[in-house]
Amino acid sequence: MGNSFKTFLKHTAKDFRNQSVNPPVVRASTIIFKSMQDIKKTQSKYLKDPVSGNFDYGRQGTSTTYALQQILRKIEECYKVYLTPTGFGAIFLGVLSVLKPDDEILVTDSVYSPSRLLTDTYLKKFNIRAIFYNPNDFNDLKSKITKKTKLIFVENPGSNTFEFQDLSKIVALAKKNKIYTAIDNTWGTPYYLKPIKLGFDMSIVSATKYYSGHSDVMGGSLAISKRVFKLVEATYKVSGLRLGPDDAYLILRGIRTLDVRLEKHQENALKVSKFLSKQKKIIKVFYPYKKGSQNYKLWKKYYSGASGLLGFKIKSKNKNSVLKFINSLKLFGYGFSWGGFESLALYQTHQALGKRQFTHINKDEHIIRMHIGLEDPKDIIDDIKQALKFIK
Ligand SMILES: *Cc1c(COP(=O)(O)O)cnc(C)c1O
Repeated sequence: MGNSFKTFLKHTAKDFRNQSVNPPVVRASTIIFKSMQDIKKTQSKYLKDPVSGNFDYGRQGTSTTYALQQILRKIEECYKVYLTPTGFGAIFLGVLSVLKPDDEILVTDSVYSPSRLLTDTYLKKFNIRAIFYNPNDFNDLKSKITKKTKLIFVENPGSNTFEFQDLSKIVALAKKNKIYTAIDNTWGTPYYLKPIKLGFDMSIVSATKYYSGHSDVMGGSLAISKRVFKLVEATYKVSGLRLGPDDAYLILRGIRTLDVRLEKHQENALKVSKFLSKQKKIIKVFYPYKKGSQNYKLWKKYYSGASGLLGFKIKSKNKNSVLKFINSLKLFGYGFSWGGFESLALYQTHQALGKRQFTHINKDEHIIRMHIGLEDPKDIIDDIKQALKFIK
């Protein structure tokens, strides 16, 4: 979509009635109609065109959430977008929409840990079995398909260890076996990767991260293909999930600059990862910074850019010295979210990664995750440099 999309982001959702650049925040539970016939008309319009904004109750949304829905629909190039109060809400909605008792779900081993909790633990309640596959081995995924497999849940790249998978191969395998596919696309966002165009049925993004971009709001989006529409619509209706108009407004405000921010995050993250790759104590950088590595190849095959979140592996028998390194960073905050304008760092504990079957790490290896913000990259690198000397 290139330049025209950049222009669209800046010029969409204007409000000519109020002569304002942005749409107003419309807060509503009740939507009032002129007559009973009017209610009927609106309802039948919605049923005929479920991506229209013909809402009859505030739970479906207001003109503010609808404006955001329409922007996301355009970026995702999908049939419909559902908005949820958090990114995880979108995962919950997508997964529960298509599964029923006795089904199996195939989940990538380096999945976001709350997604592991949902699929591995919570779904047991419904007699749904989660089977984890190795994101670095397509044949492992292939061999785990059974007659009961209903959904393949991909996250690209994987959480913390950043594996990139061969997405078209997964989609083709799923289609051949009549299996639905979902992908957590929070890292790249549809600005860099359009999963529905690749053939995925569901594309999930935490709007909390890059859409908002300012660490002051939470939200999620589930973009879908027409194939799963009836299933998702039915589940959405009974879920009670709804994004509030004030939050939608903040996300809308952030998304105007999604392209500009992501391009700068990428520029900064590339500089930082090149610096990291030259450090002796760092044995691996999880970022597609260098031609030739497997990571790079599979990233390049599908993505038009990379975001600001990266990881790296430190080898040291002295864990406390690695913690000292992290705690000595001055520019970085320590926190779980990312996608805002600021830099963040986290030490990923062995305990948190411990449930993994294929992508776990050894005792003397340490995984650090960094979100590279929009600060001057020279300051970020100087900060990492002064802290690195504490690693023994
Ligand atoms: C943050 C995140 C989520 C969850 O999003 P929330 O908005 O925090 O609920 C899901 N997947 C990935 C990859 C994330 O980073």
